[in-house]
Amino acid sequence: MSKVLVIGAGGVGSVAVHKMAMNSEIFSDITLASRTKSKCDDIAASVKERVGVEIKTAALDAMDVAATVALIKETGASLVVNLALPYQDLVIMDACLEAGVNYLDTANYEPEDEAKFEYSWQWAYQDKFKQAGLTAILGSGFDPGVTSVFAKWIKKHKLDTIRQIDILDCNGGDNGLPFATNFNPEINIREVTAEARHWENGEWVTSPAMNHKVEFEFEGVGPKNMYLMYHEELESLSTHFPEIERARFWMTFGDAYINHVTVLQNIGMTRIDPVMYEGKEIIPLQFLKAVLPNPGDLGAKTKGKTNIGDIITGSKDGVEKTFYIKNICDHEACFAEVGSQAVSYTTGVPAMIGAAQVLKGNWTEAGVWNMEQLDPDDFMDMLNVHGLPWTVEELDGPVSF
Ligand code: NDP
Repeated sequence: MSKVLVIGAGGVGSVAVHKMAMNSEIFSDITLASRTKSKCDDIAASVKERVGVEIKTAALDAMDVAATVALIKETGASLVVNLALPYQDLVIMDACLEAGVNYLDTANYEPEDEAKFEYSWQWAYQDKFKQAGLTAILGSGFDPGVTSVFAKWIKKHKLDTIRQIDILDCNGGDNGLPFATNFNPEINIREVTAEARHWENGEWVTSPAMNHKVEFEFEGVGPKNMYLMYHEELESLSTHFPEIERARFWMTFGDAYINHVTVLQNIGMTRIDPVMYEGKEIIPLQFLKAVLPNPGDLGAKTKGKTNIGDIITGSKDGVEKTFYIKNICDHEACFAEVGSQAVSYTTGVPAMIGAAQVLKGNWTEAGVWNMEQLDPDDFMDMLNVHGLPWTVEELDGPVSF
């Protein structure tokens, strides 16, 4: 009997609990909790209809540690899967320590009042989790998540050392709307408006946001412009694979998306500091989120594919080799299976698979771990079986961009 508590009834949480319910031999008892219980109930109804499994639901404000501890104890969960927002990571880790259960998330902690994401806050929990004999898995989505497992698998099976890594994230999906983000708009806009940063020769190199553009031919999608960005797995990969000379992250954006974000930024709508409006403090970016389309509702409208992977160069027995490892995922196929678009799907499925690694006893060492520190093999096998098949090919040489 493996009981799990999932926190966060958004796009990702919905996919994760559908996939958990499809694997009831691993997840025998599932509770979904979120601030708004009706969202949990809607997802539970869909799980019942699509999969025939009953899941439990609860209202929870995860910022309230005592309430989270009480719910963990009430459910008897041995693992909490945090699919709420990055702001809740530390309080949910605190609750897990207090309740004596394991922890997993898909995004690193960010303070709400500062667009700054780094692992230092969560890595600071290393000793607490070790001493408690508990496991915390950080970043079990696609990126971070699968992209780090891909790197670990390449290092385990194809290369002795990694010299450079480029992570390429392409969403070739089209939802027909003039502007919509494909996951939480607040988190997405904070990420894309942050200055770009990549790792090169032992230091971080910074450049203005959306400044460095390269056209790349993505299999299953076609040619797309991708932009150099900062992404959190660059920090953990360069820490845990110290031999890496260069690590970069690229994401595709269409011209219309860039134009909208530029205008919103220029007029102050992406600000995260409070402004007074009619006698009340509001955060412009949070207000913007309230008027933008809900990413969870985009599934029925989105057509096309995502293509996310790593191009990795390193050496094997003294010979330089380059590998491209990736997954291509179809928005419409995801919607047909679980009622969500591919961005939620490519995050929710790895969250389920990471949780399965903990519950199956594969990832149980006490402490706080990033995905590239863990054995990749069963996770990679499960990707192939549970909707995110991957391919690996050897390229003629390192990337030329
Ligand atoms: P959504 O905004 O769709 O969902 C977030 C959910 O969290 C909402 O249902 C919200 O509840 C709930 N929530 C927020 N605050 C609290 C709280 N204090 N207590 C309890 N529940 C809360 O986001 P997504 O599903 O798109 O994303 C979920 C997570 O996945 C985010 O952290 C995101 O950064 C991460 N992510 C990771 C990716 C990866 O590849 N690693 C890719 C995409 C996303 P309510 O609606 O009731 O307010």
